[in-house]
Amino acid sequence: METIAAIATAPGNSSIGIVRLSGDKSFEIIKKIFLPKNPNRKIKGYTMQYGNIIDENKNIVDEVLVSFFKENSSYTMEDMCEINTHGGMVIINKVLEECLKNGARLAEPGEFTKRAFLNGRIDLSQAEAIIELINSKTDKEAKVSVKQLNGSILNDISNIKNELLGVMADIEANIDYPEYETEEIINEKIYEILKINKNKLLKLSNSFDSGKILKEGIRIAIIGKPNVGKSSLLNTILKEDRAIVSDIEGTTRDSIEEDISIKGIPIRIVDTAGIRETSDTIEAIGVARSLNISEEADLNIAIFDNSKILDNQDKMILENIKNKKSIILLNKTDLNEVDENINIIKKYCDHEILKISAKNNIGLEKLYDLIEEMFNMNIIDVDDSTILTNIRHKNQIDKAIISADRAMQTINNNLPMDILAIEIKQIMQDLAEITGENVSEDIINEIFSKFCLGK
Ligand code: GDP
Repeated sequence: METIAAIATAPGNSSIGIVRLSGDKSFEIIKKIFLPKNPNRKIKGYTMQYGNIIDENKNIVDEVLVSFFKENSSYTMEDMCEINTHGGMVIINKVLEECLKNGARLAEPGEFTKRAFLNGRIDLSQAEAIIELINSKTDKEAKVSVKQLNGSILNDISNIKNELLGVMADIEANIDYPEYETEEIINEKIYEILKINKNKLLKLSNSFDSGKILKEGIRIAIIGKPNVGKSSLLNTILKEDRAIVSDIEGTTRDSIEEDISIKGIPIRIVDTAGIRETSDTIEAIGVARSLNISEEADLNIAIFDNSKILDNQDKMILENIKNKKSIILLNKTDLNEVDENINIIKKYCDHEILKISAKNNIGLEKLYDLIEEMFNMNIIDVDDSTILTNIRHKNQIDKAIISADRAMQTINNNLPMDILAIEIKQIMQDLAEITGENVSEDIINEIFSKFCLGK
């Protein structure tokens, strides 16, 4: 394969930049452009050398450190070098240019990882875990991706495939030596194995619900009348030690969105403009938008001022959320509370009600626990079980479940063993697409095109 080169660090000025080379000619190219301070040192894998990158006129381009990786023990399984340059874009580009002038071709996005896959160092699910790891927004999501990178999906799938291979061997033995065991006994045995493995597949498929939340997050709308404490709630949540990934601000009458992380769950929280009846046209647009946001949210947090009796506007909000996944917050519990409010709310809906003081940060821990519980995120085991985060994997697992059902059906219908064998082979093929043994070139290209340059 051709030798490829690319800048592996993010564009912009930084303390160091890295240019990567991979392929048969990596060491040959480096010899032409790199003058080590100690020219007698031989190239050894997992070592670094200090020296200068030079151009064709022997002018120094940059002072660098080059790391060497030999085939079979590199990221791509090919000879590789990584040139650590100073971090300015001009310098990094010049070093890359020297690599290209001396025989390398510019790598496509994800081409290094694609080679790691094609050369058999990682399977396709591990390659996909690398993109997810890079794009992780929270600790939990990163943890799940690292597990996948370490082969959690590959292992689960291989175990199931091995059990099915055992079944195939039994079927073949029965076709060749029918006198050995009766078809009835063997069918019973196979049915049990299919059932156990179908359940394993179902567990994996179900894990996607949590995986999707870890990856895409939960969209929460904070709704309530003006002055009930919506902004105070958002500010208190944000003031705590939670990662703020971005903030998008609208006007005061519009909504404010923040990306935060609560208990490791990525959350986009939207503080809506106050919902109330209004004759002001601009405010009316804000109110209409609030109702829209509330409609699209995965969870509504409706907040009420519990120091005052709930009025018609509060009731309009209760009416709006009664059939939506919601939590009700009674705020300002540090003031004199109106006990009747709880009864008013219960007439509208049976959503969970929490008493808080947004301003004084009271009761918020309970709110976080409840959010975690409502999305079943308290029961997922990021450390011990495989969690699917990739829709392609989930779709293939669902196909395999359908194939397993069909195989079990052939046993129920007493169909011949060779038909059962075809259905079981189908399960294995469905699974092989996840690990990439049986996958089209187009899918492979699409997966790797999502990578960044130099990865
Ligand atoms: P929003 O219009 O719904 O966003 O309400 P704000 O967050 O701006 O709060 C309106 C007023 O209520 C402000 O004066 C806040 O300081 C006050 N407030 C908010 N939360 C509490 C609370 O828990 N206790 C008390 N006593 N006042 C609060």
